[in-house]
Amino acid sequence: MRYLALDIGTTTIKGMVYDGEGKALSFAEGKTKSYSSEPDFMEKDAEESYKVILGVLRRLIQEVKKEKQTIGFISLSSYMHSLMAVDSDGEILSPLMMWNDGRSFKYALDYKHNGIGQKIYENTGTPIHAMTPLYKLMWIRDKEPEIFEKAHKFISMKEYLLYKMTNEFAIDHSMASATGIFNLKTLDWNELALSEIGIKKDKLSIPCPTTTIFNSMTKKFQEAIGADVPIPIVIGATDGCLASLGSHGTKKNTGVVTIGTSGAVRVITDTPLIDKEARTFTYILDDGLYVSGGATNNGGIVYEWMKELVGVSDDLDLSLSKSQPGAKGLIFLPYITGERAPYYNSKLRGSFLGLSIHHSKHDLMEAAIEGVSFALKEVYDILSSLVPEVDALYANGGFIKSEIWIKRLASILKKKIIISDQGDAALFGAYLLGLKAIGVINSYEESEPYFQGERVYEPEQSEVLDELFLIYQEAVSKNVLILEKLSSLQDNRL
Ligand code: ADP
Repeated sequence: MRYLALDIGTTTIKGMVYDGEGKALSFAEGKTKSYSSEPDFMEKDAEESYKVILGVLRRLIQEVKKEKQTIGFISLSSYMHSLMAVDSDGEILSPLMMWNDGRSFKYALDYKHNGIGQKIYENTGTPIHAMTPLYKLMWIRDKEPEIFEKAHKFISMKEYLLYKMTNEFAIDHSMASATGIFNLKTLDWNELALSEIGIKKDKLSIPCPTTTIFNSMTKKFQEAIGADVPIPIVIGATDGCLASLGSHGTKKNTGVVTIGTSGAVRVITDTPLIDKEARTFTYILDDGLYVSGGATNNGGIVYEWMKELVGVSDDLDLSLSKSQPGAKGLIFLPYITGERAPYYNSKLRGSFLGLSIHHSKHDLMEAAIEGVSFALKEVYDILSSLVPEVDALYANGGFIKSEIWIKRLASILKKKIIISDQGDAALFGAYLLGLKAIGVINSYEESEPYFQGERVYEPEQSEVLDELFLIYQEAVSKNVLILEKLSSLQDNRL
């Protein structure tokens, strides 16, 4: 028997075939584009993404066919917070607004201050932010009233795929819990959020547990992916929740730190984690299991940007080896795309502080990756004040290609960092959730034997990094107004 996991990623759609023991057998991927027709807009063509998904699944199914094996399930992972309108035949009525589409920031700002936003956050666990579909829906209501009226459903990319697979409009509790419209306790759409938007819940898909199996694959979809028989579909969860599960199972006293394009720190808890200042998120992984944490906008995107800007080679470690911890007293505030946790301020901007004639481009790079790591420490510190002590953090995302970055992060967070040899954590998490859905394992504690080996990085004591982190925090708090003013200038004049 073989099992398929599919992850709908922001830039890359990935799929993996696993055997029954957790061994990854074949991998396929395809890229999708995002489009920004206006400042603050970030959209995808859902049909284009769907075609890439078909290609990925077709290639994997070919591999399984060569082995003459059957497929036990396709389990689904996806990015959160996307939104579009469709008609009753699933025909697309509007472009897919992505998680990093910022056009509804004014709604988020209003709700941050009017008290209703906080009340909704306490019920839904989703931060008061432009990424949140709740605020995106308010934008569509006011700016695209025709589409708002005409829409049969408002759905995410993952729901669109499931509709194509089964002709059903369904959403898993995990994806629903990232919309800002879903009540974490009643596991149903939140009345207050619905009434603030001005819709009834029939405009949204039917919520169901993440381990729900759909045995209703349409003939059309089956043929499109080249399968000989219909394959059971496990609806699955969000990429963040599954990356947590796929990194360390539900092992106690551990968390996960991710640096991909963006960054995040997460822990798995058995109760929703609600912060009085709404600085953290809580999303559902499975019945009675939650993934809580904070996400930053500026992860690997800072490295990519800086690499182009200062012209260093693709080998980040080569560049970092020409600098030193603390970047010779240089600080970088990494907010080049505004910031989510802990500030939730899209008007923050990046800044170097302390530049001198002695600094090289490698010091600028060192300061950049330390800045990203400091931002994650700020999030980690909030999280650790709300949950039991974390002993170790499992790391994933593109940054783990750099040994020096991992070491700096361990020193800055003062935590052991573990990299498991599992490969892609979200895909592996989708696989484990699938195994639970079909009853091969009864709980995630039983997933332990499926995990392969791991590498451990112990934190090194660094006085200079400790000192710089304090200066970094002071620098942020003293510069917020200046950075906001510069951001307004950029919006108005550039
Ligand atoms: P996403 O899933 O968000 O598309 P990934 O987890 O694939 O992102 O990570 C992409 C990021 O990985 C890039 O933005 C880049 O900063 C980082 N990255 C890529 N190569 C390296 C490298 N050699 N060293 C450190 N970071 C890298």
